[in-house]
Amino acid sequence: MRRISIFGATGSIGQSTIDLIRRDRAAYDVVALTGGGNIDLLAKDAIELGADVAVTAYEDRLDDLKAALSGSGVQAAAGAQALLEAADREADWIMSAIVGSAGLAPGLHALRHGTTLALANKESLVTAGPLLMRTAQGHGARVLPVDSEHSAVFQGLVGEDQSEVERVIITASGGPFRDWSLERLEGATLAQACKHPSWDMGQRITIDSASMFNKALEIIETKEYFGFDPDQIEVLVHPGSYVHALVGFRDGALMAHMGAPDMRHAIGYALHWPERRDLPVARLDLAKVGLLRFEAPDETRFVPLRLAREVMETGGLAGAVFNAAKEAALDHFIAGKIGFLDMARLVEQVLNQMSVDVRLDAGSLSLDNVLAADKEARARVAALQPALK
Ligand code: NDP
Ligand code: MG
Repeated sequence: MRRISIFGATGSIGQSTIDLIRRDRAAYDVVALTGGGNIDLLAKDAIELGADVAVTAYEDRLDDLKAALSGSGVQAAAGAQALLEAADREADWIMSAIVGSAGLAPGLHALRHGTTLALANKESLVTAGPLLMRTAQGHGARVLPVDSEHSAVFQGLVGEDQSEVERVIITASGGPFRDWSLERLEGATLAQACKHPSWDMGQRITIDSASMFNKALEIIETKEYFGFDPDQIEVLVHPGSYVHALVGFRDGALMAHMGAPDMRHAIGYALHWPERRDLPVARLDLAKVGLLRFEAPDETRFVPLRLAREVMETGGLAGAVFNAAKEAALDHFIAGKIGFLDMARLVEQVLNQMSVDVRLDAGSLSLDNVLAADKEARARVAALQPALK
């Protein structure tokens, strides 16, 4: 039996992971499940899957979790330290699907035990890519990409010599605002931003898809995970989301990875890697799809794409600042305090304010300096936000 843990079990990726586990219950020994505020779902799944421990990120929810688990034999724990302790429990495969930079520390802990970390939490790579990959390497651990585009590139590279790759192209659906003018984008509402045309995901990444912050994070994720030069990484808008990524080789060949937009493909690939197994995802009927459409992304309307390039150019702690400022700006947008385009404005201002302090050698990144930069960027967003009103 494979021992597995799922961080962020109550979220969209966590639930898709549990769906796959449920279909083959006997093959897995579930060690830890973690969640945030959704105590009922966390307890229900932990009891059903017979987890050793269930952890909520919030200390003040411990009593609720204990009550929900009472008599089940599943241990209850709460708080940031408990998350790290759960990551220290021996497991063969761990899903990292907490949303935001909160997923970084548990992921690093898990890697120190030489485990395989299935990484949905792209924020880990954006904030501290060199630290994460170095930690994996230093402990004989493996990071497998779960983000659909990165899983697609990873699959496109199987059996290939990476030095023969000329470019990689990750696709973006374009989100609900793909053809909106700047003027119209200014007034985009939360409800509109929460409606993704092709993928069903958690609320935060859905809004990030509408603003293209998600694609901006993914450009950086591509650089950090695979080590490609920023100039080799391209974005192509592809409504429909059938092609997830393409790998271009020196001889001009372009290998495209296609599939239905269902995260259970990328999760299942990481779960069974290096094998392929049957997965319950819809099969693409290309005759029905008919046409595939591609467009160049527009960096004037979608500023985050330009910012991602600047972040990669600056390096050091710029990724941590970029991600944290984005997370804080997103909180303000969700709370109705700022407009849709204000998110990119705030992030750009914070990046400019901090551009001198963040220059740091990739080898000098540590959890401490990353978290300090993250905290400062959030504080700067809080200080700048009222000026936008
Ligand atoms: P969700 O918002 O659906 O779920 C997030 C999970 O993290 C939940 O279990 C939530 O708990 C938990 N959580 C929230 N805040 C904290 C915190 N501060 N500390 C610890 N746990 C916390 O997100 P998604 O599943 O959509 O996304 C998860 C990750 O996967 C993100 O990094 C996202 O970018 C990435 N990803 C997601 C895709 C998707 O299709 N959804 C596709 C590609 C990547 P609770 O709900 O109980 O409060
Ligand atoms: Mg993606």
